[in-house]
Amino acid sequence: MGTEPLKTVIIGSGPAGYTAAIYAARANLSPVLYTGKEPGGQLMITTDVENFPGYPDGVMGPQMMEDLKKQAERFGTTVKYELIDRVDLLGDVKKIYTESGEEIAAHSVIISTGASARWLGLESEQRLANQGVSACAVCDGFFYRGREVAIVGAGDSACEEALYLSNLCPTVHMLVRRDEMRASKIMQDRVLKQKNIKVYWNTETEEILGETEVTGVRVRNNVTGEVLEIPIAGFFVAIGHIPNTKMFKGILDMEETGYLRHRPNSTHTNVEGVFVSGDAADHVYRQAITAAGTGCMAALDAERYLGEKGII
Ligand code: NDP
Repeated sequence: MGTEPLKTVIIGSGPAGYTAAIYAARANLSPVLYTGKEPGGQLMITTDVENFPGYPDGVMGPQMMEDLKKQAERFGTTVKYELIDRVDLLGDVKKIYTESGEEIAAHSVIISTGASARWLGLESEQRLANQGVSACAVCDGFFYRGREVAIVGAGDSACEEALYLSNLCPTVHMLVRRDEMRASKIMQDRVLKQKNIKVYWNTETEEILGETEVTGVRVRNNVTGEVLEIPIAGFFVAIGHIPNTKMFKGILDMEETGYLRHRPNSTHTNVEGVFVSGDAADHVYRQAITAAGTGCMAALDAERYLGEKGII
């Protein structure tokens, strides 16, 4: 005699997960949300969020996540501070397993496990995180307007972010580790045409400089060996993201890069009753507001699915 499966389990606690929880709770699905090992997700490592509509004076990232959590709980979401590390999603009743070995059964699962920025791995990068080091130009670029900044990376994200920064900052020093960029031709052309983006080819970051805030970066040309110090106030890392989807490998359809696939204009994955929202399926927009939007979609999709199955 087991207990009844839950109607909906949500895995992840960023804007996507909490928005899914608000909608699912208000639809009487009594959702249980597992926060994962970084409750609140990427916004917990951000300071001011100034681009989320409805906050004219901005809001601190951790405050916003606390507010979202409260709002989800107010309508009956149960929040569990645990990591899910294994899932069995193929049957009608989905099984998910916590790190501590508990098994949870549910009729539907909403995946909102997000993505994590890839970092260079330097000690100075960690020490100066939020003190001038950022992995999101769209989030933090505004704080460096009128000041010199550097960006590392040469993919579409780095190009897009360099162009974004070039509208705010007098010079954007773009550090590219090879003699060519990975980004699409059109993005490269835009970057190379932009007068205030200075590209440093074959250039690697040795150290970000500054005690309590970023004051510069020391770089090395890996062909000539030349070492250079560039004075900057902001250092942006744009070398890719890693979606947190490892546990779904072999179970759910995903891109080679690990981003989950879903049906067009919906959050349905290839497995019935399993929905995906937020950055785990989005390598393009990656904003809190877009994650929240797809969280809402996932809850609505789950509700319809449960209705069609006669579960609610
Ligand atoms: P990518 O993986 O495409 O690029 C990562 C870049 O970072 C590469 O240039 C890589 O260099 C560089 N890099 C990686 N590690 C280091 C390191 N340790 N030091 C220095 N440089 C490093 O990631 P993106 O986030 O740019 O893009 C991810 C996906 O999203 C891509 O498919 C991209 O096309 C897509 N995208 C699309 C956009 C659009 O269409 N508007 C916007 C943004 C992203 P190297 O080339 O030498 O390996």
